[in-house]
Amino acid sequence: MSTLETDLERIAALATARQDEFEVLRYTLELLEDELPDPALDALVETVAAPIIAAIDCTQCAHCCRTLDVYLTPADAARLAEGLGLPVEDVIARHIDRDTAAVEEWGKLNCRPCAFLDGQLCRVYAHRPESCRIYPAFTPDFRWTLADTLAGAGACPIIYHVLDALSRRFNGDLFGV
Ligand code: SF4
Ligand code: SF4
Repeated sequence: MSTLETDLERIAALATARQDEFEVLRYTLELLEDELPDPALDALVETVAAPIIAAIDCTQCAHCCRTLDVYLTPADAARLAEGLGLPVEDVIARHIDRDTAAVEEWGKLNCRPCAFLDGQLCRVYAHRPESCRIYPAFTPDFRWTLADTLAGAGACPIIYHVLDALSRRFNGDLFGV
């Protein structure tokens, strides 16, 4: 795979410029639901995403660690406590916001950039929350979570390039790419 653009300003500009195209991808995939059922689409997306994920070094970016809310479960808090060598009550008191997390969420890390980010690296990597492990998650339900994925296209090079690849595959004739 040729070198992928990872400059965050450039990715933001590209995502803005191609917003309409990515919306067409979303509508196209909804129209193709019968021909390309959800499991087949999810498998295709994973196949497209794998080399892109492999080609982009997240330790040179860490933009998600600097800018996104990190939602947590009690199991995440327990794992962080183990990694930090602290009682879980201390981890909750120091690092977890239980008050302003979304209603359906148990809690979230209480600062952005994340307090565990050390330069570009995660100092609790082996004990990081589940949401950090799976980000950016494209599946399951790629088709029906695509609106949320589109919202992240300008902030994550991996998301942008996966949408770029899928757009070329499904919208290519329409946009002449
Ligand atoms: S997941 Fe995306 S935003 Fe986060 S570090 Fe990797 S490329 Fe950057
Ligand atoms: S816990 Fe680690 S991976 Fe998760 S946001 Fe913080 S620095 Fe990033």
